Amino acid sequence: MISFLRLRPQELCEALLRGRFFDSLSARSPEGSGAFFALDQNICSSYNGEKREGGSGVELLDKLTILADAAKYDAACTSSGLDRSARPGGLGSTLAAGCCHTFSADGRCVTLLKVLMTNRCMYDCAYCVNRRSNDLPRAAFTPRELAELTIAFYRRNYIEGLFLSSAVWGGPDRTTEGMIEALRLLREEYGFYGYIHAKAIPGADPLLTRRLGMLADRLSVNIELPSEESLNRLCPDKEKGAILAPMAQIRDGIRESRGELAKYRHAPRFAPAGQSTQMIIGATPESDRHILTLTQALYDKYKLKRVFYSAYMPVSDSALLPAPRDFKPPLLREHRLYQADWLLRFYHFRAEELLDDGAPNFDPRVDPKCSWALRHLDFFPVEVNRADYETLLRVPGIGVRSARRILTARRVGPLTFSGLKTLGVVLKRAQYFLTCSGKMLEGLRVNPDGVLRHLVALERPALAGQEPEQLSLFAPAEREGTA
Ligand code: SF4
Repeated sequence: MISFLRLRPQELCEALLRGRFFDSLSARSPEGSGAFFALDQNICSSYNGEKREGGSGVELLDKLTILADAAKYDAACTSSGLDRSARPGGLGSTLAAGCCHTFSADGRCVTLLKVLMTNRCMYDCAYCVNRRSNDLPRAAFTPRELAELTIAFYRRNYIEGLFLSSAVWGGPDRTTEGMIEALRLLREEYGFYGYIHAKAIPGADPLLTRRLGMLADRLSVNIELPSEESLNRLCPDKEKGAILAPMAQIRDGIRESRGELAKYRHAPRFAPAGQSTQMIIGATPESDRHILTLTQALYDKYKLKRVFYSAYMPVSDSALLPAPRDFKPPLLREHRLYQADWLLRFYHFRAEELLDDGAPNFDPRVDPKCSWALRHLDFFPVEVNRADYETLLRVPGIGVRSARRILTARRVGPLTFSGLKTLGVVLKRAQYFLTCSGKMLEGLRVNPDGVLRHLVALERPALAGQEPEQLSLFAPAEREGTA
């Protein structure tokens, strides 16, 4: 599989144009396909067959360059958790194994065609590169252009699905209508059954959001900032209520859809891969504790599949934001929050356990689980031959899989430290927090400072080297690794 990030969109588009892919696609398109929904009359009202031949390809290339680059700041995409097979005559499929995505080193999903419908925006969010007041090239896809690009990329195995977001142009309803039309074309005309993640636009008519959810696999509504106060300060056109309302609608729609599917096998599916959100980290002063508490509330109340964190990239010299000159995107903080998020979702931790008023932010030197363990040494050591699953999950170095293996393996006989290694336990971490048949690892001395020093030393190689750097979608290929 060719990773999307390894090919520059410009190169992709040029190759596709050279291969006259529009001709082959046009053969599938109905007559009169020039009558598309136009997000902006000046930019995309006249896209048709002749213009493609006569130079509109360059225009499309420009659009792709602008709109794929503009989408790189949105982290809220993943395709896990959905299983749907291809149908005869259709294209694409999704896999429950979640293998239709890869992530760049900074956690961004890259095998979906990740693009904006338009970067023209009527709003002026201070932290956003697409804000109304920013002077930058603007573009908009027509729904047909977007559908054709997606299919062309898919056929060449560059992508496995689509992540479609948009700035708000002409109002939330009009923006959503454009996205709906693009997805309708993909699903109904091109028979595309691959994964689609679409961004729901706050403030759009609930009927439009519903229609979008019937076409997409996953919906997301970006919460943007971790507090209402920050939202009011940096996004004067947005309201907390307008963001939470579609989240609640999507939650209810998913629940109803699952109920109907239980009764009728062919009932239409609404956002079957659930919903997610994204929040920006480091642009505003909220602590990790505040962010994690909000995350937990979102999981509990709105049943989100994922909360994505996006380290703030300085794209504005607004006095409301950190000064760009000395500001480094808090990528390590973002990483720690992802680790803590993992603990909430799979390790049965609660936000208030991980951080409190005395320690409102994570220690950047060690991962949040080690940090918690060092502050709760009275909980340890855990006897590995007797501890229940939940207790084992709290031991640094023991993951979900190794905890399950321990439960299975100890039915046969008592476990030893060497046996734990073969079960996948990371003993370098776990050794300080475990006993086997009542004994610590031979020769090991435990004092809090020494354990902290050792755990920090274990993490140092991963954190050493050059300063964390935000990858550019258009950086040279040799700099663009994927995990
Ligand atoms: S609504 Fe705000 S965050 Fe979204 S594209 Fe427009 S300016 Fe950016």
